[in-house]
Amino acid sequence: MRAKSVPLLLLLLMVAVGCQALLGAGCQAATRKAAGGAKAPEALRQLTAPDLSPPARLSPANAAPALPERLRGIIRRVALPAGDKRLALTFDLCERAVHVTGFDAALVDALRHDGAKATFFAGGKWMRSHPEATQSLMADPRFELANHGWTHANMAVTRGQKRVDQVLWTSAQAELLREELDARRVREGKPALGPRPLTLFRLPYGRGGAEAVAAINALGLAVIQWDVVGEGFGGSVEARAQAIAQAARPGSIVLLHANQVPRDTAALVRALLPLLRQRGFATATVGELLAAGEPETVSDGYFSVPGDNSIYDDMFEDGGTGGRARKSPGR
Ligand SMILES: [Zn+2]
Repeated sequence: MRAKSVPLLLLLLMVAVGCQALLGAGCQAATRKAAGGAKAPEALRQLTAPDLSPPARLSPANAAPALPERLRGIIRRVALPAGDKRLALTFDLCERAVHVTGFDAALVDALRHDGAKATFFAGGKWMRSHPEATQSLMADPRFELANHGWTHANMAVTRGQKRVDQVLWTSAQAELLREELDARRVREGKPALGPRPLTLFRLPYGRGGAEAVAAINALGLAVIQWDVVGEGFGGSVEARAQAIAQAARPGSIVLLHANQVPRDTAALVRALLPLLRQRGFATATVGELLAAGEPETVSDGYFSVPGDNSIYDDMFEDGGTGGRARKSPGR
């Protein structure tokens, strides 16, 4: 696995931006619409002070069941039986304590239009900021919702109860929104979806070693990384889509973002889906891949090569949830 088409530092910064939510033109428009203090689920904005408030429920009433031994460790891809050419498109919804990020509704529309399946790794605070978007993803049988930490903490540097809270607060927030969604569905005469504990976790910044992963696994969540960095290629949308399609293998897990940064992910996915089909691939959720094959694991999280993300241990304050630390490289 190589990232030759994009220098490593650029790749890291791209993903940092994806998780940092810088103001963009479209987002400024969304912010303007929300002027007057109204809640703005589409806005992408820095907060005047970090939001460290916990969710209304601190631990899910329906906890994830014990994790099977075969799903322990850091899963980068799944070895599927011969002839099974499915892969998983995954989209992170990152949100740190210092900002509120966006929601790429056009991207989700593109997936729905194509009938594609996808897994969304949502931050707990992001879900609280985007209740309607979260419930829309929950209600779609082609989509799978998963856990991306409460405020995007770097699990390699966050320890003890804070680390546990990043996981449990997120699962509890998802449960609250699912209960609210079900209550609404029942009022509308639709069947309730029922409880569904989150069972998959994605390490923010891809950071976390054996000890952090064991702690997350002990809460019943499998740790899911990727073997294709979807935003790690350069060139036009078409060229990047081609690069992803060429890098993908059966059982691949492709990393992308759905929080409006980068802003052309919807176009990228629109270009990618027919290319995958041409190559004989079908989409599946990560859970479906894990049910069909054997996970391939590593002992430490990384983007493309081991150690390529250790830069994040010093990049943001407060365990990764705050502003940029002074030691941060670049801007
Ligand atoms: Zn993230």
